[in-house]
Amino acid sequence: MTLDELRAGLDETAVGAELYDCIRELYPICRSLTGDGVRETLRRLSRRLPLAIHGVPTGTPAFDWTVPKEWNIRDAWVKDARGAKVIDFQRSNLHVVSGSAPVRRRMSLAALRPHLHALPDRPDWIPYRASFYEETWGFCLSQRQLDALPEGEYEVCIDASLAPGALTYGECAIAGESADEVIVSCHVCHPSLANDNLSGIAIAAALGRELRRVSLRYSYRILFLPGTIGPLVWLSRNEDAVARIRHGLVLVGLGDRGRLTYKKSQGGDAVVDRAAAHVLRHAGDHAVEDFSPYGYGERQYCAPGFDLPVGRLSRTPHGRFPEYHTSADDLDFVDPGQLARALAACLDIVDVLEHDRTYANQSPMGEPQLGRRGLYRGPGEDEMAMLWVLNQSDGRRSLLDIAERSGCPFPAIRRAAGALERHGLLKRHDTPGGGEAR
Ligand code: ZN
Repeated sequence: MTLDELRAGLDETAVGAELYDCIRELYPICRSLTGDGVRETLRRLSRRLPLAIHGVPTGTPAFDWTVPKEWNIRDAWVKDARGAKVIDFQRSNLHVVSGSAPVRRRMSLAALRPHLHALPDRPDWIPYRASFYEETWGFCLSQRQLDALPEGEYEVCIDASLAPGALTYGECAIAGESADEVIVSCHVCHPSLANDNLSGIAIAAALGRELRRVSLRYSYRILFLPGTIGPLVWLSRNEDAVARIRHGLVLVGLGDRGRLTYKKSQGGDAVVDRAAAHVLRHAGDHAVEDFSPYGYGERQYCAPGFDLPVGRLSRTPHGRFPEYHTSADDLDFVDPGQLARALAACLDIVDVLEHDRTYANQSPMGEPQLGRRGLYRGPGEDEMAMLWVLNQSDGRRSLLDIAERSGCPFPAIRRAAGALERHGLLKRHDTPGGGEAR
């Protein structure tokens, strides 16, 4: 199957329901930077997309970082003087600061207080907090719960372990014609948060599954990595693959009701930056933002030692919606239609990357006679696309260049080039090895 046929056959309602179903299945799992939650998530994902699951031992260096101890949690609670649970991990895994050291002790409210985190501005929401690189512990609760705690003695229990183990990540390699690679990366380290991490995970898995069904020019690698240390570990163990990366996308926060937002790679003018901007412009309301050294995997992929052409696709960027990192980022916060349209945008970006080629016009002395060849059916988008491709195909300008200059959507330019090539009016003029001409 071609990517074009796949894209045309995509049913938004069915795709949205499936993406949402994936999020709903993974939502209850208590993920963290390391541990059983990530493994269970990857195990379940591998039923949707075949994954190689890697475990990297605690203590393994990754550039300036080291794989930390593995964290696992069984239960946690705070009981009041009468033995009633006033905070209960079984009700929400957000109640425990992710990565908390084990603790079991009695303490006064005053002593417990510095370990309690709430959101005064959003009194019904539980915040999400994590602490992975210093041994501490804490609970998160709603401001209303906190305000209701009477003075007195409390019993505190975090039944967790922080011990030598492994960091787990998953990857799916999809072979294309060329060994040159496109990476798609998402983070898998957050507990029950639907938009932050699960929307990216569901869309990355679906994108991988769809790409496995079509013939591809590039090879693709879908990466499911815990935040920060995950990309660093992957980069440190995959020198050969890193050298073959030509384009990349970080996927995060794609299920909320906001518009699509693309954040450019560090260089800002990579083909993926232009492809994403082009696709979003033709898809409607959107934003394109410049790079900043903050965020998700792009912080590592775009570090100066790599400086990879990797951008980030999201909807409302992190920190710019009140539900961010709270219990309100739940299953109601993500929308199946938004998820489906985000996946469609990913496929459209891939379509540009796959088909952005350079051609040379084989009949450049004036316009070739299109009508004689059955190529001209009267003024319309396809005819304009054909005239643009003929005019601009000088062996240097690529189809994406032509799409940008003409204002025509890339698929129209690509179809026009295909028709002209079939009639001998265009000839492929790519650099040797199938790489990009620019
Ligand atoms: Zn987050």
